[in-house]
Amino acid sequence: MNPGEPGRGRGRGPDGRSTDIDSGRGTPGWLAASIRFCSRCGTELRFGTIDGEDRQRSHCPGCGHIAYVNPRLVVTVLPIADDGRVILIRRGIEPGRGLWAQPGGFLEIDETVNEAAVREAMEETGLLIEPGEIVGLYTRLEAAVVVLVFEASVIGGAPTLTTEALEIREFEPADLPWPQLAFKTTHWALVDWLARHHPSVDPPAFAGGR
Ligand SMILES: [Zn+2]
Repeated sequence: MNPGEPGRGRGRGPDGRSTDIDSGRGTPGWLAASIRFCSRCGTELRFGTIDGEDRQRSHCPGCGHIAYVNPRLVVTVLPIADDGRVILIRRGIEPGRGLWAQPGGFLEIDETVNEAAVREAMEETGLLIEPGEIVGLYTRLEAAVVVLVFEASVIGGAPTLTTEALEIREFEPADLPWPQLAFKTTHWALVDWLARHHPSVDPPAFAGGR
């Protein structure tokens, strides 16, 4: 595989996107439905052209506030055990309940991405991890998120089940639970990680999940 073309030939878009929809289609409907009133003055927002803006946006006819809407960052980790196995959790909550994914969650406003990686891994697995290389950064337009995936080493803690993790398991790189992955981003992150560290393992095409 050409490193400059991650995932080429595996049904993935030319820019490595992990999404089913095209760019340039505006705010997803489910998100637009939550941006109806001005957060400053409560007036109903209008969607349309605004002076000085290069695209149509929701804005307030009362106070002029512009309701910018941008993707949120999800910080996740692929913890790798000392023996080289990949640690995944079977998700206890939707979306993807019962399916396998890497631990992670939304970046909080007052923490760094490294801190978020450590916090989320601890919250969901009980493992203390140290973030290493970035495996990838994946856009999911349909969910209005960008997912960051760190490779991580386990430096402490003990596997602990929570409501967010029904099961925590170590998988051999050649024996990952491909048909039961929760998210496309999990699939692509594992594909990218394998390409770097276990190029002899040939991952299957994405099958199911969201
Ligand atoms: Zn307003």
